[in-house]
Amino acid sequence: MKFSEMGLSEEILSALSDLGFENPTPIQEQAIPQLIESDRDLVGLAQTGTGKTASFGLPMIEKVDFSLSHVQALVIAPTRELCVQISKDLQDFAKYYKNAKVATIYGGASIDKQARDIKRGAQIVSATPGRLIDMINRRLVNLSEVEIVVLDEADEMLNMGFKEDIDSILDGTPEEKSVWLFSATMPKDVAKIAKTYMVDPIEITVGSKNSSNENIKHEYYCVQNRNRYYALKRVLDYNPNIYGLIFCRTKRETQEVADNLMRDGYNAEPLHGDLSQMQRDKVMEKFRDKTLQILVATDVAARGIDVDDITHVINYNLPDDVENYTHRSGRTARAGKHGISLVFVTPKEIYRIRQVEKIIQKKFSLEEVPSGEEICREQLFSLVDNIKRLEIKEEQIDEYLPTIMELFEDYSKEELIKRFVGAEFNKFLEYYERSGDLNADPRGGDDRGGNDSEGGRDRGRRRDKGGDTNKERFFVNLGLSAGLNKGAIVRLVCNQTGISSADIGRIDLFNEFSFFDANVEHTELILSQASRMEYDGKSMKVEVAGGGKSGGKGNGGGNKGGGRSRDRKPKSGDSRKSSGGDKKSFGGDRRKSSGTENRKSSGTRKSGGERSARRKGRR
Ligand code: AMP
Repeated sequence: MKFSEMGLSEEILSALSDLGFENPTPIQEQAIPQLIESDRDLVGLAQTGTGKTASFGLPMIEKVDFSLSHVQALVIAPTRELCVQISKDLQDFAKYYKNAKVATIYGGASIDKQARDIKRGAQIVSATPGRLIDMINRRLVNLSEVEIVVLDEADEMLNMGFKEDIDSILDGTPEEKSVWLFSATMPKDVAKIAKTYMVDPIEITVGSKNSSNENIKHEYYCVQNRNRYYALKRVLDYNPNIYGLIFCRTKRETQEVADNLMRDGYNAEPLHGDLSQMQRDKVMEKFRDKTLQILVATDVAARGIDVDDITHVINYNLPDDVENYTHRSGRTARAGKHGISLVFVTPKEIYRIRQVEKIIQKKFSLEEVPSGEEICREQLFSLVDNIKRLEIKEEQIDEYLPTIMELFEDYSKEELIKRFVGAEFNKFLEYYERSGDLNADPRGGDDRGGNDSEGGRDRGRRRDKGGDTNKERFFVNLGLSAGLNKGAIVRLVCNQTGISSADIGRIDLFNEFSFFDANVEHTELILSQASRMEYDGKSMKVEVAGGGKSGGKGNGGGNKGGGRSRDRKPKSGDSRKSSGGDKKSFGGDRRKSSGTENRKSSGTRKSGGERSARRKGRR
């Protein structure tokens, strides 16, 4: 169904078109027509990120009479963040209604200004429960003519202890009204609210009950407690373009992890209740506009974080109440995008993963903490990709170029590339040179091979990767910037060679080039057909990636790197896919300050981290 077939006004359709909403999301498709047609109540079981704001906002705007100037619709949400976001969305949807006024009511800001907004004739109010009660008590807002009440993130509001406030607010509204309740989960208390305040509600479930978004991949890493932080660092290093939210259990842990990451040169900052509202706003602003790459937060502080494009939610520790996992993981894979929610657990905590699996009705996959070698490979290709994408400030450089050219006169292209890449990359190589295996045995017992902590010796003990042992890795000279995607690679290779798509393995897309795995017995066939492959009018070069079984006999004959394909770990998500293709994505140079500075600091500090790891290891 299209928006234009839902009975929405021209004003709303124009606003949606301005916002670039082309097709309704599943919850919008189900909710909007029913809410427009009737005055029924509604219970929507839906995660944040499913488009639920428009699912209630659009019918609400249809129903409100903007020629009047009293409050007709009320949205109650758990946090200031969410409440502000909802107001903003509603204003966007109603922008073509001349007299539409939305007031936003939340604690920690001037009550007088909020009262003035209401007095000016707001027809819609988006509020947090505490401040709203306050304003009701002071008679600054009149809810006696409210026709629609929306309870958003009802489970969160109850978790935060707003049950009494909600009861009191609802009791102060007219008997005859529609109540639309949205919740990610349906614990008993939420069901009770539905029962008390609703009559025969329309029920909408997006995904199965209590289940999480289909686009989220759930992963866990099994490590000893002492290696938790080092494992986190490796996951971050393995995903250079990550845009991540790290959850910790307590304010103290949050601050510690953030401090350590900052000390180690990552672009990370904490968000927790001990910070002032101003500090929190500042951090959120940076995270939202993506100058901050990693946010470390407590569950409470992160409530209502409403940021699209988060590639990874990292559970540094699982929440005490495993039900909260759904809220955490729901911060990624919003608006139809894909995302990863990963958890670090010790062997003793694995039973908690099983508990979460029961709640979300989805299986977690056990992933391996990447080895130093794998991280270096990822960093190297990310660096090369960034260099290829770099916009050069010609004017500033031109002046020095003749001198520089002279200095490098005697160097070959290969030598030059090695030196420039090495200048950036050596720190990673040095840091991970002696890195050990951080994976613990999930069945309990000690670490695999008994090695632990950064700074241990790499004994090359990574598990054999089953299916990958028969795969060869190929380099392709085109990438995302040429419009290439995974499907196109499979199609091109299979059509040209006649091999089955089942024989193609992992595919990694970078901006300027790509890699794919294929069964090793097809190597000669693929290479012999490679010169005939074309994508979108561009000729494609396919070569065996460096160190492969066939030793780089590709049509270009070069050794393009890519490392050992056979023991390659299935990567924990493809950050390049999720964020690399996005123009707003972080390159290596989007880290704190300039890329160079950051790498410098990360290199130096990492050596420090290594030393402290050794110290810890001895204890
Ligand atoms: P929500 O669950 O309402 O917070 O929406 C999540 C994100 O999806 C927001 O950034 C919305 O702007 C966006 N969104 C909602 N509905 C649509 C739609 N039909 N098409 C495109 N984006 C949407």
